[in-house]
Amino acid sequence: MTSELTSAIERVARVPTLLVSADFDGTLAPIVENPMEAAPLPEAVAAIEGLAALPRTAVALISGRARADLAVLTGLSPVVHLVGSHGSEFGTGFVDELTEDRQKLLGDVERELTTLVGHEPGVRLEVKPASVAVHVRTAARDVAQRVAEAVRGGPATWPDVVVTNGKEVIELSVITTHKGTALDTLRAQLSASAVVFVGDDVTDENAFAHLDGSDVGVKVGPGDTRARYRVDTPHDAARLLALLLDTRRGFLQA
Ligand SMILES: [Mg+2]
Repeated sequence: MTSELTSAIERVARVPTLLVSADFDGTLAPIVENPMEAAPLPEAVAAIEGLAALPRTAVALISGRARADLAVLTGLSPVVHLVGSHGSEFGTGFVDELTEDRQKLLGDVERELTTLVGHEPGVRLEVKPASVAVHVRTAARDVAQRVAEAVRGGPATWPDVVVTNGKEVIELSVITTHKGTALDTLRAQLSASAVVFVGDDVTDENAFAHLDGSDVGVKVGPGDTRARYRVDTPHDAARLLALLLDTRRGFLQA
């Protein structure tokens, strides 16, 4: 951790109301081949639960995963806010909020993707409440390339379909939300004085873009980013959260 990042963490820990937010996969949980075997690092869980238990401190995980999967995989206590599907899912029963038109569009997208790429080896379709994700992590590179082209030239071009490109995944959504708008909503709901956001993927860039002055954005791993700070691995991210917890606890007790 650089001394600039340490200073930023020590500074943001002292704001009146703090929102700590993070992505899940590749940020709190190391990337694994089978996504349903992803597990958060115990150090990250301890820091997150610790922060969530502090007064005037809220914690939210904002993930591309379906919220129900996120709940099972993280096993966090209910005081931690879980936001799924890149900011589309704030609570349960979400699918009822989709209009009939959008539910039909989602069904059409799913059918088209199944026909177009569902048979490709190593490709997995994940149907979520407002989107379908095409995962190519376990596909051969030439297959992944062919699938990406088919998706981008196919239902990705349909009206009202929103495309999100992640690491080894292309997601087609029928509503327009992203992690940045999710962060805005949480910030307003919680009246946060400042926000910390930690994330590793291209979809996290929308969140970094919605940070300002006193906020702290931390990118995990390599790649271009709009985040001001960077750490190398999920283990580093866990250490950063632990430092934030220690500093804020000390500040609140003083
Ligand atoms: Mg991630």
